[in-house]
Amino acid sequence: MRLLFIEDHDRFAKFVKDGLEKEGFTVDDVATASAGQAALSTVKYDAIILDLGLPDADGLSVLHSLREEGDETPVLILTARDGIDDRVKGLNSGGDDYLLKPFAMEELVARIRALLRRPGGVLGLVITAGNVSFDTTAREVQVDERTISIPRRELGVLEQLMRRNGRVVPKDVLEDNIYGFGKEVSSNSIEVHVSRLRKRLSVAGANISVHTLRGVGYLLSEENTMAPQ
Ligand code: CA
Repeated sequence: MRLLFIEDHDRFAKFVKDGLEKEGFTVDDVATASAGQAALSTVKYDAIILDLGLPDADGLSVLHSLREEGDETPVLILTARDGIDDRVKGLNSGGDDYLLKPFAMEELVARIRALLRRPGGVLGLVITAGNVSFDTTAREVQVDERTISIPRRELGVLEQLMRRNGRVVPKDVLEDNIYGFGKEVSSNSIEVHVSRLRKRLSVAGANISVHTLRGVGYLLSEENTMAPQ
């Protein structure tokens, strides 16, 4: 799940981003309203966390233009302003929820998950392929109903592949989803994750395969399995 975090306070942004990444989110953080607009014009995010006090514009202006374009991506407003007027204004402008600073990380994570679970949100569903199921809320993978442990980045790779089961997932789409914007990614890091993931799935007895399409990307397929007689 990929989030856009628009927040100008460097240290706070880093702290929140780290916390969210530990919870399995991929986070692009930008410090201005204009950088936020630029990111939104190129990437489809699952949710947006928006600070209202930004150096170049009021955060609400980002929300306004998003909704004017008919974009319904869930928006959680973060604000230090505790006046009732600001809250009402934020929600009237098309914000889905708000959280007052300071807040506990657990609370932010819970609120974001709640937004993603709403109809049309990306959470709250279990994806299955073959005998593998991926609970996107609990971030838990089961093979034949036995839970297997998979490190965070491999989990991200598996999620993208399972969401596009049977379709080619380009390598750069995986990189963007796993690492976020503007990260230096070594050219073989996705290959490394995929190859570890393949081993893990095979050891666990999964009947799905991850195929490499050289120079294009990856493809997940279900193996044809014969029911034991
Ligand atoms: Ca701010």
